[in-house]
Amino acid sequence: MKRHRTWVEVSERALTNNIETLRSLLEDEARFCAVVKANAYGHGLTEVASIAARAGVDAFAVDSIDDALLLREIYPGALILTLGFTLSDRFREALSANIHLTISDQEEIEQAQSVGRELARTFPLHLKVETGTMRQGASLPDLADMALQLSRCDRVSLEGVSTHFANIEDSENPEFAAHQFSLYEQALAIFAEHQINPPWRHTACSAAIILYPQTHQTLVRAGISMYGIWSSELVENTVRRLNLGCDLQPVLTWKSRIGQIKTVPMGTPIGYGLTEVMKRSGRLAVVPVGYWDGYDRQLSSKGEVLVKGIRCKVMGRVCMNMMMVDVSQVPQLQKEDEVILLGTDGRHRVTAENHAQLTQTIPYEVLTRIHPSIPRVIV
Ligand SMILES: *Cc1c(COP(=O)(O)O)cnc(C)c1O
Repeated sequence: MKRHRTWVEVSERALTNNIETLRSLLEDEARFCAVVKANAYGHGLTEVASIAARAGVDAFAVDSIDDALLLREIYPGALILTLGFTLSDRFREALSANIHLTISDQEEIEQAQSVGRELARTFPLHLKVETGTMRQGASLPDLADMALQLSRCDRVSLEGVSTHFANIEDSENPEFAAHQFSLYEQALAIFAEHQINPPWRHTACSAAIILYPQTHQTLVRAGISMYGIWSSELVENTVRRLNLGCDLQPVLTWKSRIGQIKTVPMGTPIGYGLTEVMKRSGRLAVVPVGYWDGYDRQLSSKGEVLVKGIRCKVMGRVCMNMMMVDVSQVPQLQKEDEVILLGTDGRHRVTAENHAQLTQTIPYEVLTRIHPSIPRVIV
C-alpha cells in the first residue's frame, strides 16, 4: 500500500558509514557525539537517533530541553547534552532526567545548585566559553569567578567545557579558529588552577573533526558530516586535495509522487502569476509538495527533480503545497509514480548543495527546512 504522498528516506547504511568514517579520524581520547538538533538536520530525530545508537555513538546533542527529554525516554542510559539556552524553570526537569545542560553564566550555575539541593542530586553542566563566535558563552575574564563559584557549589558538577568555532569552514583561513582554540585552552587552564578538570572537553564540529585533529579533545560534536554533507565547498576541496580518505555519503532522499499528468500546448502559461510558459507542447506533472513542505519558493522555474532517472524542471512558481514539473521527456509516466526531490537516481543527483546554491543559502538550511511533519522512513 502506498501510504505517503511525500516522505523522507533515511539510509541506515549511509549514516552508519559516515559515523564509522568520522570515528576513524578521531584522536584516541575523543568520544563521538551525534548532533541531532533541528530534527536531526531534517532527517528525523528518533529515526537518526536509533541508527546512531545502533552504531554505538557515545552521546547525543540537541538544541532544546524538549528534544533532550524525548530522547531520554527512549535511551535511559545515554549521555544527552543540550547545546542551546534552557529556561531556568526547566532546570528541574533537566536534572530529573539527568540531561547535561550547556550554560554560560553565573545565574545558571546558581539555579543549577539550588535545583540540585532541592532534588538532592548533582547537576551536570557544560560551560560554553566565548572565544570569538559572539554567540553563547562566558567570556574569559569572568571564568575565575565562575570557577570559584563552582568550587563552592556542592550540587553542581562541571562535566564539560566547550566552545564553538566561527569560521572553521573557511579552511583556507585557519588563523581565527587557531586563535579561538588558544583562548579555549586558556579557559581550561583557569579551571585547572581551581582543580576543576571536566571530563568532557569539546570544541570540534564537522569541519574541525575532519581537518583539525588537535581540536578533538575528549568529545567531538558531529552534525552535517554525519548526514553525508560537507560543511562547505572549501572543506570538501581541502579533503580532496590532502587525500584525507574521508568518504561521506548523503543519508537523505526526499521523495514524492505524481498527483496528476496533463498534456499542455506550446505557449501555455503555468501557475500563479503566469510567470513561465511552455516553450513547446509537452506534459506537465503536478507534484504534491510546496514551500510549506520546505521546498523553497526560490526554486520556482529553477529547481529540478528526478522522475524515472530523468531530470525534470520545476515550471512556474512553487505553490504552498504543490508544484508543477515538466515531464515531457519521461516515457510511460503514470500517476503516483515516484518523484525524487533530493537524492540520486541512476546517474543523476539533486543535492542539498544544489538547492542551497539556487536559493543563496547553505545545505544546513535546505535540510532543516524539510517540514517535520513529513514522515521519515529508515531504509
Ligand atoms: C550545530 C552545532 C554543531 C554541529 O556542527 P556541524 O558543522 O553540523 O558539524 C556542533 N556544535 C555546536 C555548538 C552546534 O551548535
